[in-house]
Amino acid sequence: MDKALAGKVALVTGGSRGIGAATARALAEAGADVAISYAASEDKARAVVGELAEAGVRAGAYRADQARAAEVAQLVAAVAEDFGRLDILVNNAGVIATGAVDDAGTDAAALERQLAVNLGGVTAAIRAAAPLLAEGGRIITIGSNLAPRPGRPGVADYAATKAAVVAYSKGAARDLGPRGITVNAVQSGSVDTDMNPADGPGADAQRAGNALGRYGRPEEIAAGVVFLAGPGASFITGATLDIDGGYLA
Ligand code: NDP
Repeated sequence: MDKALAGKVALVTGGSRGIGAATARALAEAGADVAISYAASEDKARAVVGELAEAGVRAGAYRADQARAAEVAQLVAAVAEDFGRLDILVNNAGVIATGAVDDAGTDAAALERQLAVNLGGVTAAIRAAAPLLAEGGRIITIGSNLAPRPGRPGVADYAATKAAVVAYSKGAARDLGPRGITVNAVQSGSVDTDMNPADGPGADAQRAGNALGRYGRPEEIAAGVVFLAGPGASFITGATLDIDGGYLA
């Protein structure tokens, strides 16, 4: 097994389930020490930490609500303190709240929270991590294929949060380039998780909407994150990597 990330410390927000948990596992397989955060699923987070430790790396779980900038700042500082350094930040935690723009019944509080988690959580984490990241550090944010092409009704607000983090990544890439830190986004397509189960309503249409005609697995997103975190991606910054089964093709 190639341990390209040995000696590196990674923080994956929302690592208790889904794409974040798969990413944490893949980073650990590549040799990185990995901290994960979670909002509510303490037991699941602890179980993931147990799996990471089995891979022979240091691991830890931290509770922090991405909607609260102060908690995010504390999270980043605690990880850097406990692990002694910070090399890789994966902004994965996210939520989806749907509702057509002309639907008066849409849950406005849910839309607000979505903005706070998906955009505020990412900007808070990047601002907290940027001063602490080692030279050559990596920031990778999980975006969505719905940002460049929403493609179905009801996702305008979600898509806007995911478009915003791509713009933020590009801006951060410009700010942090002089320190050799790269900042990129992975635009995920439909992936089978609690957020978007492959047997949920609308799943068939999502399958039909991409070139490969299927859902992705969390590990298929994680592989792209590990690539962007690794030495092979040293000249890639301000980029978006679409891992979406060809939805955008
Ligand atoms: P899941 O719902 O399966 O998992 C979400 C993760 O984020 C959990 O670990 C959860 O923690 C954490 N989380 C949620 N809200 C907060 C919060 N306020 N503070 C801290 N952590 C939080 O989602 P996915 O794995 O499917 O999604 C991961 C990312 O990928 C998200 O950014 C999502 O938008 C994006 N994405 C997903 C797609 C899909 O089809 N699945 C498609 C495109 C993008 P806890 O367990 O404690 O709740």
